[in-house]
Amino acid sequence: ATPTAIMVGTGLGAKRGVLFKNAMALESSARIRVVVMDKTGTLTKGEPEVTDVVVGDTLPDDEFLRLVAAVERESEHPLAEAIVRHADGLGLAPMRAEHFENVPGHGAVARVKGRKVVVGNRRLLEREGVEPGKLASRRQEMAEGGRTAVMVAVDNTVAGVIGIADAARDTSPAAIATLHELGVEVVMLTGDNAATAERIAQRLGIDTVIAEVLPGDKAAKIAELQAGSRKVAMVGDGVNDAPALAQADLGIAIGAGTDVAIETADVVLMRSDPLDVPAALHIGRGTLRKMR
Ligand code: ADP
Ligand code: MG
Repeated sequence: ATPTAIMVGTGLGAKRGVLFKNAMALESSARIRVVVMDKTGTLTKGEPEVTDVVVGDTLPDDEFLRLVAAVERESEHPLAEAIVRHADGLGLAPMRAEHFENVPGHGAVARVKGRKVVVGNRRLLEREGVEPGKLASRRQEMAEGGRTAVMVAVDNTVAGVIGIADAARDTSPAAIATLHELGVEVVMLTGDNAATAERIAQRLGIDTVIAEVLPGDKAAKIAELQAGSRKVAMVGDGVNDAPALAQADLGIAIGAGTDVAIETADVVLMRSDPLDVPAALHIGRGTLRKMR
């Protein structure tokens, strides 16, 4: 490896805010055949907003939202924040949750005014032994529209579904198209449900979707993709993504992401622009050519 080629590559990257942490990062960039992208906060803006609130006939609408917001106020999940913002925006008086339990990759459970409130995905309701009930078709509709459907059960009966949308970053489709031009396969990795992820992937032109992955299992999914010695890059922003970034042959962190992701990654995209992913691979390939 000639130091000059490394310096040129690093400099080219720095000019557009693509920070290669070392020479190995540049070399690895040249050899990537698969790019795995986290959905929330990487391909999307990571600014979820409540779009639909469907309440069953067991509770009045306001009461329903107050119960859900009480639980979600205790959670730090971005979906929880969106729900709390929505309830606050409606001016609903806050209620206090007790015995709060965060269930990673699933949602949250707590007691509010003596009632047991379960807020999360279908898997969480199954875990809690709640029957999907009448609102299952509404959940499915939301998911097929590319929204995340948050299910709510009160005292073990489904009480409503909340639809949450997170807009794609403007340059996500172009980034994926450019990766394809470079001959790279693009995979979306997410904890979100399969129907929601498939719909978003279809809009963005993504080849493969790996959905409903638990936070602790993301790294193992990367390892599976590495079988047959294919070089795999992972692009992510969250605390959950750090082990996968470390497992990948090249970890790429979104600059707007969490400190843990940025520290773990080999490359940091300061502009948080998905188009800088193909740019990084392009710079790596140019550098490697000069090194031979
Ligand atoms: P991701 O951030 O990729 O969606 P997570 O593993 O954090 O993945 O969560 C997976 C899924 O679990 C979410 O898509 C959501 O359906 C559900 N979930 C997790 N936490 C919460 C919460 N606090 N409120 C509602 N739903 C939640
Ligand atoms: Mg994310």
